[in-house]
Amino acid sequence: AQALVDEKDAQAVALGYVAEARRVDARKYPKFAAGQNCTSCALYQGKAGDKAGGCPLFAGRQVAGAGWCSAWAKKA
Ligand code: SF4
Repeated sequence: AQALVDEKDAQAVALGYVAEARRVDARKYPKFAAGQNCTSCALYQGKAGDKAGGCPLFAGRQVAGAGWCSAWAKKA
């Protein structure tokens, strides 16, 4: 399996990625709302039930389904 994205990775820091959406800094990211996470993001490539999956913003690695970043976009 591909490695999980490290929150301290430069790209993760730049995007405000956290592996657990409940740890999002709401002051820094006021657009964050409950229910937003990688699983509910349009860019997430994991299948239903997967704990992690691919994201085009983190090529070659996996993001946590429960994670979040500031590029979150609502699934159509
Ligand atoms: Fe998660 Fe979406 Fe951000 Fe990718 S773009 S890390 S799937 S919230």
